[in-house]
Amino acid sequence: MRAVDIIIKKRDGQELTADEIQFFVQGYTRGEIPDYQAAAWLMAVMLRGMTSRETAELTLAMAHSGQTLDLHDIAPLVVDKHSSGGVGDKVSLVIAPLVAASGLPVGKMSGRGLGFSGGTIDKLESIRGYRVNLSVDEFRAQLKQIGIVLSGQSMDLAPADGKLYALRDVTGTVPSLPLIASSIMSKKIAAGADAIVLDVKVGRGAFMKTVDDARALAQVMVNIGRDVGRKCVALLSDMDQPLGRAVGNALEVREAIDTLHGGGPSDFREHCLIASAHMLRLGHKVESLAEGEKLAAQLLDSGQAWSKFVELVRAQDGDVEMIVNPDLLSKARLVKDVLAPRSGYIAGVDAAQVGTTSVELGAGRAKKDDPIDYAVGLIVHRKVGDQVRVGEPLFTVHANDEAKLAAAEKRLLAAVEWSEAPVKPLPLFYGVVE
Ligand code: URA
Repeated sequence: MRAVDIIIKKRDGQELTADEIQFFVQGYTRGEIPDYQAAAWLMAVMLRGMTSRETAELTLAMAHSGQTLDLHDIAPLVVDKHSSGGVGDKVSLVIAPLVAASGLPVGKMSGRGLGFSGGTIDKLESIRGYRVNLSVDEFRAQLKQIGIVLSGQSMDLAPADGKLYALRDVTGTVPSLPLIASSIMSKKIAAGADAIVLDVKVGRGAFMKTVDDARALAQVMVNIGRDVGRKCVALLSDMDQPLGRAVGNALEVREAIDTLHGGGPSDFREHCLIASAHMLRLGHKVESLAEGEKLAAQLLDSGQAWSKFVELVRAQDGDVEMIVNPDLLSKARLVKDVLAPRSGYIAGVDAAQVGTTSVELGAGRAKKDDPIDYAVGLIVHRKVGDQVRVGEPLFTVHANDEAKLAAAEKRLLAAVEWSEAPVKPLPLFYGVVE
C-alpha cells in the first residue's frame, strides 16, 4: 500500500477501506508518512467527506494508535465531557472538578487550541508547571487517588489525534464532520470513560454553523459511542457569541476560577450547571436534570468544586499559588478598552471574529510549533440583547504588541452588530441528542 494512492482515492471521492485507513493512521503516527502527505489527505477528507463507516473506522484507528485505558479496576463508572470547540469555552475547567467533587471520577483527555477556538490544554498550561503529558500509569494512579485527571494526548494515548490535530490547526482542515467526530471520539475511547457528555457548539464561533450540521455531528458521535459500548449524550449549545466574557488562555483560567468560587458570568455559570447536570445524571448521581443542576450549584457554591480544582492542579504539578492568587497568572503589557461607537442594542457579537482576534493577539498558533502567549486575549463586556450607550466599553483587549492591539480593536468593532430596536438574548442550548 502507498500513502499517495490513498490520498488520490479520497481526492477522487471514493470510500476508503478499513485497511487503508489503518495504514494511513498508523504510518503517520509512526512518522513513516510525512506531514505533507497527511496534510494532503486531511484536505481530501475535508473536501470529499467520509461515510459513517469510514468515520467509525478512522475513529477506531486513531483510538488504537496508542494504548486504550480500561479503568474498571479503579472505578465502576468514569465520566467525561468534550466540546467540539468554541470561543471563550472554558467549561471543562469548571465542570470536570465540579463533577469529580460529587464523587464521580472524571478522567479527561483534552485538546489544544484549534483554528479560532481555544483549547483546554493551552489554558491549563498558563498555570506554571501544569503537566499535560501524563503517561498511562500516571493517568490511572491520579484517577484512583483524587478522582480527576485533565490531561492532553501523549505518545501513550491517542497519539494519532495529537499529531493530526496539530496539523489540522494550521492547514485549514478543522471544520470537517468526520475529522472532528474521529478526533473527539478517539480521545474519549482511548481514555476509557463509560459515559460522555458531548458539548456540540453551533454558530459562527463553532465549526458547525447550523443546528442541522451540529445535530448531524452529534448523531455521528453518539452512534460511535454506542457502537463501542459508551453512553453518550450530546448537547447542542450556542456559539454564535462567545461563552462567558473572557477569551484567551490566562484570562479564561481566571474566569473559571471566579466561577469555581461561585461567581463568574451568568451565562457561563448556567451553561456549566446544565452540562454538569447531564454528567451527574449519566453517572447515576442524580435521577433528573433538575436534581443535577441543584447538586451542581451546591458543589460550586460550597467551594467543593474549587477544592477539587486545587487538588487537580497540585497533582499535575501546577503552581497552586497561581490559582489561589490569580494576579500571579501572566498579564499583558497593554490593556485597553474598546468603546461603543454608537448607542443601541447589541444584535450580534461574531464569535469567530472574536476568536480570531484572540489568536492573532498571540493566544493561538499560525504554525504547528508556534509558542503561544498565555497573557493575551480580551474580555467581552456586552452580549446579544444588551442595550449600550455610546462610549461604554464593549471589550477590553489584553495585548503585548501595539500593532496587534490596533488590529484587534478594528476587528472587534467590526464583530459587533447593532439594532435600533430591542433584541432577544440568544439561548444557551438548542437541543439534546441521546
Ligand atoms: N475538539 C477535538 O478534540 N477535536 C476537534 O476536531 C474539535 C474539537
